[in-house]
Amino acid sequence: MKILIAGDMEGVSGITQWEQVTPTHGEYLNRGRALYTGDLNAAIEGAFEGGASEVVVSDGHWAGRNAPIEQLDPRARLNYGSPSPMSMVQGIDQGVSGLMLVGYHAMAGTAEAILDHTWSNSSIAAVYINDRRTGEIGLNMGVAGYFGVPPLLVTGDQNACAEGLAFGGAGLRTAIVKTATSQFAAELLPLVESRRRIREAAADATRALWKGLAAAPLQIGAPTRLAVEFILSRQADRALLFPGTVRVSGTRVEVVLADMLQTYRAFRALATLAADN
Ligand SMILES: [Zn+2]
Repeated sequence: MKILIAGDMEGVSGITQWEQVTPTHGEYLNRGRALYTGDLNAAIEGAFEGGASEVVVSDGHWAGRNAPIEQLDPRARLNYGSPSPMSMVQGIDQGVSGLMLVGYHAMAGTAEAILDHTWSNSSIAAVYINDRRTGEIGLNMGVAGYFGVPPLLVTGDQNACAEGLAFGGAGLRTAIVKTATSQFAAELLPLVESRRRIREAAADATRALWKGLAAAPLQIGAPTRLAVEFILSRQADRALLFPGTVRVSGTRVEVVLADMLQTYRAFRALATLAADN
C-alpha cells in the first residue's frame, strides 16, 4: 500500500505569515522549512503506523524545494523541484493507493483562513470547475480522482479542513493544527499536540483505507469546464494565448477540457501564462 503525501506550507503548524513560506526570507529559512518538515514527518510516521508499505512525499509549495531531504523521515522518498509532470501531486499516476494533503490552505476568498489563496495570490481571484468554486484542495483531489486515488487526509486550519470534507466527503480524515481568526492570525496549538493530531489522523486514515472505509475518489464530470477569474485584465489577456479559451469578461477566461487531467494541465498553463513576472 503506497501513500502519496502532498505537502504545502500555508497550512502547516505554526505558520500564519507569507514571510514564513517565502523562500529567501529569514522566517522561511530559519523556521518555516523546519515547521513544514515536522508536519510531513508526523504524517509519514502515521502512514507507516497505519500499515502503509511505501510513502512518497510530493513537495508542492512554491518551486517544490522546501523540505530538506536530510531532515525528512528516511523511510519516505521525496519528489522535489519543479516543474514536474503532476506538480503538487507528483507521483499520483504511479500506483498510489491514497492521497494525503498536509499543510494545505483554503481557497482564495475564504474568511478566517490562514493565507487563503488559489495557486497564485497575485493573479488568481477564483477558479471554477464545472461551475463549482474550487481551490487547491479540490484541484489536487480531482486529479487524484482521475487516477482512481481516494483522498485520505487533509491537515491545516479549521477552514482548510472544512473545505477538505466538502470535496472529499465523510470518509476523509482531518487534522486541525491551528484555528484561524483572520488571513494572518490564528490560535496555534503547541507543536507536540498538532503533530500528534497529524500522526493519529494519518494512521487512522491509512487503517480506514485497509478496511475499505476511506473516502471515494473525487470524480469530476467530463468534459470539464474550467473558468479562471484573474485579478487583472492583462492577466486574462495573456491567458487567452491558451488554445480554446474564451473570454467571458475583462478578467474571466473559460475553456472546456476532455477530462480532469487535461483540466489540471490547462489550469497550470493558464496560471503560468498569466503570472506577472
Ligand atoms: Zn503553498
